Amino acid sequence: MKAIVAKTCGYCFGVKRALDLTEKTLKKYKNKKIFSIGQIIHNKGVIKTLCDKGLIIAEGEDNIEPGSIFIVRSHGMSPDLLKRIESKGVIIIDTVCPFVKRAQSKAKMLSRKGYHLVIIGNQKHPEVISVIEHADKNNLTVIEKPEELAKIKKHKKIGVIMQTTQMKSNAKSIVAGLLDKAKEILIENTICEVTEDRQHITGELAKKVDVMLIVGGKNSANTSHLAKIAKELNTRTYHIENYTEIKPEWFDDKNTTVGISGGASTPDSDINAVKHYIEDFIFPDIE
Ligand code: SF4
Repeated sequence: MKAIVAKTCGYCFGVKRALDLTEKTLKKYKNKKIFSIGQIIHNKGVIKTLCDKGLIIAEGEDNIEPGSIFIVRSHGMSPDLLKRIESKGVIIIDTVCPFVKRAQSKAKMLSRKGYHLVIIGNQKHPEVISVIEHADKNNLTVIEKPEELAKIKKHKKIGVIMQTTQMKSNAKSIVAGLLDKAKEILIENTICEVTEDRQHITGELAKKVDVMLIVGGKNSANTSHLAKIAKELNTRTYHIENYTEIKPEWFDDKNTTVGISGGASTPDSDINAVKHYIEDFIFPDIE
């Protein structure tokens, strides 16, 4: 038995930055209430730890108290909503990933220049919701899969941006289909480099091993994409949130090779726990 952890996996720089800023804020403003709306990053365990240290996840803007601290999640948020919260005399701590900010500003620029904006991504994901809020909402379409291309009408000019954690292969198929929709198409590749690199490394590992485990939040877009990519290359791929979900029947004999990768919001400790669980409990007799 061999358990191999992907060369690059776990926290990306954007998530590390968001968590560092949050930890520092929790230490600095011990006597104040500290709010966020939605999860700062998509990992239930990490968010629980932050809440134990004092972070309050508010249901909405009405719950944010005047004079408190407000942390903007890494996925971004609506600028209008942020202005309303700021007007309550709240100190704002901005943890939005610079790659997400880049996608927001590209969306704004394309809207300003009159392009029909096509956002390749999941319209329910907080990052996409925040990007929409930076653009002209009356002149855009969000599309997740090539099968949805029919919902885009013909336009004079189309501008394209991508959710930072998109799968490149999916984005390519959609972009190819857009050629029938406009004569002028301006494509901004806003997929973050970290995502591209990790998708490649995870795919390569999935090809080499018998069983592939992807560790991370089921609500994390980048983790789910890693699981999808790995599954296409290795049918014995399982997406788990932590080691407790591992089932012994996934591993048939002691020669099994297990690959492990994790999303950008998965702590190293969760990835290491999976490796140790496999080594110590699934294959305890192997040196
Ligand atoms: S995956 Fe990319 S866009 Fe998302 S937080 Fe990490 S660095 Fe930023």
